[in-house]
Amino acid sequence: MRVTFPDGSIKEFNRGITPGEIAKNISEGLFRNAVGALVDGKLWDLNRPIEFDCELKIITKKDKEAPEIYRHTMSHILAQAVMRIYGAENVRLGIGPTIENGFYYDFDIVNATIKEEDLEKIEKEMKKIIKEDLPIERFELPKDEAIKLMKSKGQIYKVELIKEIEDKKVSFYKQGEFVDLCRGPHLPRTGMIKHFKLLSVSGAYWRGSEKNPMLQRIYGTSFASKEELDNYLRMIEEAKKRDHRKLGPKLGLFFINSEVAAGMPIFLPKGATILNELMNFSRELHKKYGYTEVITPLVMNVKLWHQSGHWDHYKENMYFTEKEEIEYAIKPMNCPGHILIYKNNVVSYRDLPIRLFEFGKVHRYERSGVLHGLLRVRAFTQDDAHIFCRQDQIEEEVSKVVKLIDELYKPFGFSYRATLSTMPEDHMGDEETWNKATDALKKVLEDINLNFDIAEGEGAFYGPKVDFHVKDSLGREWQCATIQLDFQMPERFEISYVDKDGSEKRPVMIHTAKYGSLERFFGILIEHFAGAFPLWLSPIQVIILPVSDKFVDYAEEIYKILEDNNIRVSLDDRNETLGYKIRDAQINKIPYMIIVGEKEVESGKISIRKRDGSEQKDILIGEFIEDLKNIIKDRR
Ligand SMILES: [Zn+2]
Ligand SMILES: [Zn+2]
Repeated sequence: MRVTFPDGSIKEFNRGITPGEIAKNISEGLFRNAVGALVDGKLWDLNRPIEFDCELKIITKKDKEAPEIYRHTMSHILAQAVMRIYGAENVRLGIGPTIENGFYYDFDIVNATIKEEDLEKIEKEMKKIIKEDLPIERFELPKDEAIKLMKSKGQIYKVELIKEIEDKKVSFYKQGEFVDLCRGPHLPRTGMIKHFKLLSVSGAYWRGSEKNPMLQRIYGTSFASKEELDNYLRMIEEAKKRDHRKLGPKLGLFFINSEVAAGMPIFLPKGATILNELMNFSRELHKKYGYTEVITPLVMNVKLWHQSGHWDHYKENMYFTEKEEIEYAIKPMNCPGHILIYKNNVVSYRDLPIRLFEFGKVHRYERSGVLHGLLRVRAFTQDDAHIFCRQDQIEEEVSKVVKLIDELYKPFGFSYRATLSTMPEDHMGDEETWNKATDALKKVLEDINLNFDIAEGEGAFYGPKVDFHVKDSLGREWQCATIQLDFQMPERFEISYVDKDGSEKRPVMIHTAKYGSLERFFGILIEHFAGAFPLWLSPIQVIILPVSDKFVDYAEEIYKILEDNNIRVSLDDRNETLGYKIRDAQINKIPYMIIVGEKEVESGKISIRKRDGSEQKDILIGEFIEDLKNIIKDRR
C-alpha cells in the first residue's frame, strides 16, 4: 500500500498499518508527539488501521488540528468522571463536542444538579482517569446492535442519535468501563494530554430546543502544555474583567432593559457620544471613497420582502406590523431600500459605479437565549453600503473597499485577517461568473498582501464573499467587515443599466459593511480598550478638579475655554477631597485631569494628570489645547 507524505515522498507499507506505527517508523520523536493523523484530509486515530493508498499527515501536539483531537478525548474523560461520581446508571449522556478553545459535555442526571463547586471534585476524578492512562479503543457495530447496546445502558439520547445516522455501521470509543457513541478521532490513551480545566456549568436544552428536556452542560478547556493553558486561563480572567455587559453600564455608556426591549440596547449620553464619533469617522471615509449617503424607511410593505427573497428565506427572523389591512415588515436589511433608489433613475454605463451608503437601523429576531449584550442583539445599526457596478469594475471596487476598511481599522490598533468564501453547492448563477468574481476577490487580497484563508464552498448562495476578522488586545478574533458579491438580487429586482451600444445590462451588486454592526463593534471596543477609550472617542476628554471651593471660579474659566475649543470637558466642583475626585476620574477612565489650586491661579497655568498617573506642571492652557486637538485630529 502506498502512502504519500506532505513533502511529496511516497513509501510502501503493509495494509492495516496504523499512523502511529508509521510515525514510529519515521522517528521516535515524531511518535512521542503524535496525537492523530490526517488520512486523505480526514482526521484519523493514531491507532486506527489504514487499508488503502492514501495521503498521510501525522498530527503532532503543536499542529492546528491537534486540539480537536485531544479536547474531544478530554470531553470523554469528563463524561467518564461524571459517571463514576454520580453512578453510570444515573447519568444519561447528551453530546460532548469540541468548541472554539475548549469542549463541553451535556448530562441528564437523575436526582442531581451539578454546581460550580462540584467541578473540583469532577476535575479530581478526571485527573485519576488521566493517570490510569487507559487505552482508547475504537469499534464498530451494525446499527441495530448499536441501538441495543445503548438501550441496555439506558442511554436514551444516544439511541435517538443512532437512529438518525444514515450509515449501516456506527462507531464507538471505549476507555476502561466507559463506552461512547462517537465518530472520533481520539488519542490512543487517556494519559497523553494532562492540561485541562473545567470552566463552568449551565443548563442547555437537548438539541437546543425548548420543547426538549433541559440537560446540564459542563464547559472545559485543555491545551498541550501547561503554559498555553495558563495563558488561556489568564486571558479569560482578563476578559471577564473587561466584559462590556458590566463595563458598559458601569461607565454610563448603555444599558439593556430586558423586560421592555430585550436585545435592543439603550444608549446613554456617553455611549451616544462614542457611537457618533464612530459614525463621523465612517461617514468621513465613505465620502472620501466616493459614496453618497442615503436614508431609507424602517417599515416597508411586505411586497418588497417577497421580491427580495427575505420572505422565503428570512421570515422567521423578521418583525411585522399591519395598518389599513396592509402588512408591513420592519427591515432586517438595507439592500432592498437601496435598490429602490437605484431604480429611481435610468442608469447609464457611465453612471456606474453607484455607491450608496446608509447608517441603516435593522431589526432581526433572535431567540432570547442567544442574546448577549451588544454582541448579539435584535436591533442594530449597520454602516451598510451597496455598490452597483459593471462586471469589469468588480476588482477595482473591491480593492477600494478593502482600502477603506484598512483605513477604518487603523486607529483602533486591530490587526486583522480575511477569509474568502467560495461557491457553495447550492448557488445561483453560472459557474463562470462565480469563478471570475472569486478570482477578482482573490487577486485584490493578494495585491494588497492581506493574510487570508479560503473557506471552500462557504459563500452565500448569491455570490462569493470576503469576511474580515479583527484581533483584539486579548488576542480574540471578531468577524466585523464583509464584502459580498451578489448576482441574485439584481436579477430578482430586474435592475439594469444602459450599455454603450444601447442594450440593457444587469449590474453587479456589492454589499459591504465595515464596522458591520455599530453596536457590536462598540461592544468589542469596550473590551478591547477595557473602557479606557483613546482621546478621540472618550465621552469626557478632560475633567477639571479644583482643589477646593476657592478655586472654582478659575476652574470655570478654564472649562469655558476648553468648551469653546470643542473639547468634551467636565468640571467636578463637588465638595470632596482631591484624592477622591482623582479616584473617581480614574474609575471613569477620563484621559486628562486638570488640577487647579493656589499655584495654578497665581501663575495662570495648569497642572495635568493623565489617566496612567503621569503628571505635567506649569502648562499653558493654549498649548494643552493645541496638543489635544492634534491627538483628536489623528484619531488617537
Ligand atoms: Zn466523542
Ligand atoms: Zn446588502
